[in-house]
Amino acid sequence: MIERTLLSETEIGTRLDELAKEIDERYAGQEILAVGILKGSVFFLTDLLKRLKTPVAVDFLQVRSYSGTSSTGNIQMVHDLSTDIEGRHVLLFEDVVDTGLTLRKILELFSSRHPASLRIAALLKKDIPENRDLSLDFVGFTIGPEFVIGYGLDLDEKYRNLPYVAVWRPEK
Ligand code: 5GP
Repeated sequence: MIERTLLSETEIGTRLDELAKEIDERYAGQEILAVGILKGSVFFLTDLLKRLKTPVAVDFLQVRSYSGTSSTGNIQMVHDLSTDIEGRHVLLFEDVVDTGLTLRKILELFSSRHPASLRIAALLKKDIPENRDLSLDFVGFTIGPEFVIGYGLDLDEKYRNLPYVAVWRPEK
């Protein structure tokens, strides 16, 4: 069901090298608390953190927002952090920013917990009007509005382990 490969393993790796450098520069002299939004961001987060020189701690949270290939519009906390983020430099990892609803909700919640700083690293950002006002600090790739799979991104829990990102072709 793959229409075409959008980002190869090599392209992703090269971009992660660049992002790691940007992040190291931005956090010079600080320690990062990397927060992965489960489950999609896990591949991005681990591959990126392995490239960082900045000291880093890791935590995860899980929210539910999607069913199949369309947004439900609802965000539900499934699993919260095990770490207190107050006074920490939090870097949130998101696999793909679509409407931005997930991030907006998480940003709102996290801001109320008083981190020293709160930034976002997104592997993919869809180029759509809904997310234009959302400021992202580190973006891997800007893509079109298509539904994508692979490199952490699933369709009903399948395809996450593809080493590349592909455009999914719906059954006609
Ligand atoms: P948003 O809240 O920004 O609309 O959606 C964010 C979440 O929806 C992502 O973390 C991801 O889980 C899911 N999502 C959005 N677009 C896609 C896509 O093209 N493919 C996959 N597999 N998931 C997506």
